[in-house]
Amino acid sequence: MYRDTIAAISTPLGEGGIGIVRLSGTEAPYIAKAIFRGKLSDRRLSYGHVVDPQTGERVDEVLVSYMAAPHTYTREEVVEINCHGGPLALQRILQLALRHGARLAQPGEFTLRAFLNGRIDLAQAESVLDVIRARTEAGLRVAVQGLDGCLSSAIRVLRGQLMSTLAYLTARIDFPEDEIPPQEVVQPLNEALRTLRELIATADAGMVYRSGIKTAVVGRPNVGKSSLLNRLLREDRAIVTPVPGTTRDTIEEVSNIKGVPFILVDTAGIIHSKDLVESLGVERSRKAIEQADLVLTVIDVSQPITDADREIVGLIGNRTALIVANKCDLPLQARLEELGRESILTSALSGEGLSRLEEKMVELALGGKVIVSDAPMVNNPRHKDVLERAAKFLDRALQDFGAGMPDDFVTINLTASLNALGEITGETVQEDLLETIFANFCIGK
Ligand code: GDP
Repeated sequence: MYRDTIAAISTPLGEGGIGIVRLSGTEAPYIAKAIFRGKLSDRRLSYGHVVDPQTGERVDEVLVSYMAAPHTYTREEVVEINCHGGPLALQRILQLALRHGARLAQPGEFTLRAFLNGRIDLAQAESVLDVIRARTEAGLRVAVQGLDGCLSSAIRVLRGQLMSTLAYLTARIDFPEDEIPPQEVVQPLNEALRTLRELIATADAGMVYRSGIKTAVVGRPNVGKSSLLNRLLREDRAIVTPVPGTTRDTIEEVSNIKGVPFILVDTAGIIHSKDLVESLGVERSRKAIEQADLVLTVIDVSQPITDADREIVGLIGNRTALIVANKCDLPLQARLEELGRESILTSALSGEGLSRLEEKMVELALGGKVIVSDAPMVNNPRHKDVLERAAKFLDRALQDFGAGMPDDFVTINLTASLNALGEITGETVQEDLLETIFANFCIGK
């Protein structure tokens, strides 16, 4: 299929050391030849200058790589012009490429072409974005696994299993006199359902590795929230001060704890008037808790528990939460048992109890399972949805078969399950879904 030639600046527009203008499409080498004074050769880096052919002006000193189709990122002719990275040089080179027949690429269009031209499947294309946005090494590892096609090949195996069973059943409909032992249908379908459920079971942890877990640190003023945040971030980002609540803004930082990205939200950002202090603390906590996946409720154990403490603990409801009993280096004044919840003693000052707290946070974030292995892992809510749908249809097919329903009933659900699975790899996928997925990419990727 003919596709026009696209161009974009593929590196961030800033003061980078180098910048890259990328072109993809049949015209790419011709456009490059028109604006590049130097010799292009396949899979070599060529030194020269980008020159405006109209004025003869040299725009920048560059290195140009030309990669002939089809062994390229997009499977099309690809040219990458490495220039000196200043925004002006990059813009001028891009403009020249556009003036010579390229079209400005849409967000993610290079990767979209890699998908449309069959180099990668949809799940792999989505992993490209996960690799770019990975927040921790563990998240990166899961993303690269996806890019390698780890999940995709698991899905292909599953589809293969379902297809042969479907062929079996169809044959049975056409040749009812041929006896097929029911086990030949039930066993592979059960096996496929088990694999599906195993994949689904990895999703919650996979998505945490990918997107992180929003963690609210709540508690009344001066209990040590900012100090604790600093400890968890291992750097002095939040301002720690003995004056209650001078941290004016809500602070959001990502802390990498054993590979899990915790997005920590500080709630200390309130201006206190003497009598508003406690109630505002409660109000802030309430808001933060609403948006959080995990709540760390901090109390100061060097003081008796106050009504505000009780109220904030009460806000947790049935959310995933930990009570952090801070300032355990000071004489214990709080009667922790009256909170009726398990708490973890810490000292943000000395660091005592911090590793225990981190362990507990990771355990809660991953639902008790720390899994980063070579087995495929689902890290994308879209994939999880699709897998759940596929499992539902498959389960129905099995039940119908078991209940002795006509084979047509069974094949309808089997086909639906197959089609659902095809949405992961992109074999059965709607145009608008593609648009939504690639709209999240940046231009030039
Ligand atoms: P926030 O208002 O809840 O954010 O509390 P801060 O982190 O600003 O801490 C208030 C005061 O308590 C500061 O003077 C901290 O140094 C002190 N503090 C925080 N954590 C501890 C702790 O574990 N032990 C002791 N002794 N002091 C602490």
